[in-house]
Amino acid sequence: MKRRKQQREHDWAPFRAAERSVRPFSPHAPNRLALAYANTYEVGMSSLGFQRVYELIHDEPEWCCERFFTDGQGMPRSVETDATLDRFGCIAFSVSFEEDYVNLLRLLDRARIPLRREERSAWDPLIVMGGSSAAINPLPMSAFVDVFALGAAENLLAELLPALVECEDRQQILARLAERPGFFVPAHHHPEDDADLGKLHKLEVTGEQMKQPGFLPTSCIVTSRTEFTEKFLIEMSRGCPEKCRYCWATFGMGKFRWHPTDAILASFERARSVTDQLGFVATAVGDHPEIGRILNESQRAGFRSSVSSIRIPAVKEEVLVPLYASGARSITLAPETGSDRLRFLMNKPIPNEVLLQKVKMIFRHGFTQLKLYFIIGLPGETMEDVEAIIELGDACRALMLEEARKTGVIGHVHLGCNILIPKPYTPWQREAMDDERNLKHKISVLKKGVARLDNVSMGMMSPRQAVWQTYISRAGSDAAEAIERVARGQSLASLLRELEHRIHPEVFVPFPRELRWHFLRMG
Ligand code: SF4
Repeated sequence: MKRRKQQREHDWAPFRAAERSVRPFSPHAPNRLALAYANTYEVGMSSLGFQRVYELIHDEPEWCCERFFTDGQGMPRSVETDATLDRFGCIAFSVSFEEDYVNLLRLLDRARIPLRREERSAWDPLIVMGGSSAAINPLPMSAFVDVFALGAAENLLAELLPALVECEDRQQILARLAERPGFFVPAHHHPEDDADLGKLHKLEVTGEQMKQPGFLPTSCIVTSRTEFTEKFLIEMSRGCPEKCRYCWATFGMGKFRWHPTDAILASFERARSVTDQLGFVATAVGDHPEIGRILNESQRAGFRSSVSSIRIPAVKEEVLVPLYASGARSITLAPETGSDRLRFLMNKPIPNEVLLQKVKMIFRHGFTQLKLYFIIGLPGETMEDVEAIIELGDACRALMLEEARKTGVIGHVHLGCNILIPKPYTPWQREAMDDERNLKHKISVLKKGVARLDNVSMGMMSPRQAVWQTYISRAGSDAAEAIERVARGQSLASLLRELEHRIHPEVFVPFPRELRWHFLRMG
């Protein structure tokens, strides 16, 4: 990466001015760390998990933290005080997407911190990585990260923060954390060579913890500069009652459990001082047993509400009526496939007939925007299955137009298409990714099909991005070279060509051997 002498540093002043905190967060305390998100402010501050860690650190009487994002160039500076990243003894990253690995390295490089952990001296910051990517497969980043925090911050900070204060140097910190459950320390654990390592435990949040007073994760800062503009986010539950074969969220996050309704309703008071908009988030928002009551109460309290994507069976009158009344006009569903056959094969036994009844109900209740998420490249998929995506989109469009004839308001149907990334810990973790040529053909069929439909649009993941994601999701520590090359500016296209001999067998061949990430025990 070229050194940047005169690059402009980012001006955080307008971002600070747009923020409204639910409580004061002092940047002064005896101990402080850098809390970094390896993407822009807009993406990072949209993450409830990131905001949660920020608040948990400030809850500790002796601690504060300052936020860093990838915006700007040159030396990264904190949002809070413009402090430079290289002045912190510990940088804790929250990473939810493998594609952000490259951004993490670029942030370190901008701060002139050696990328490889073995090249860092006693004076360089300790690099910690948490978030879901750390717990799925940390190996590809194990040459760069000193400590991986596996699981929920609620359980891990209680070990990490005292270690940072009480240990004399980084070697002591590493040795101490390597002994504790919930931490993978590459300098001490060698899962690729050590058959006797046993399992390292991921510390998930339990249902009992979620019932404790004051536990509920919510936004602590609301701003117009996020994907959820001005929304106060409230977590409804963890895990999912469904078991779709490709989904890490259901197999990696433990069984479905939800937050007590009283805690959710009490959090409205926290929101009131900063906004009049609530966003209820979870992998399965609509499955909270009292979702109807919660939405009704939020409407009665004068809030506008929205929900993240809801499971198809959870689309019910008791959800749609209060949502519409509080201003929502858009609903997101995930049918995943166009055909019943393939949907059943992926363990989502919901026929199109039921889906279309739900879609009809959605438009009948006044919603005008429908987003449907699909995945292509699934095991057992045929061209008929791909064409069925267009047919299903068309059938939803027909239901939207039927309602529009009565109301005079024409809506919109958006089809978001992803490519299957066979993720660790899912039943499809050993599957090969679909051939790139097949995928290109399928994408062209989909694009042509959507072009024939008015009021229907499509978003599509690129096959190149899918190859890269599959590789860095399942690779071992030898992926470090590829990640570093991209961080240093090599284009993905040229890297995938140059390292094809190494990457293709990891991506396009069913995973034949021992699953290298199985040294982690899921919660
Ligand atoms: S419904 Fe959604 S969150 Fe639940 S298992 Fe299926 S894909 Fe995952």
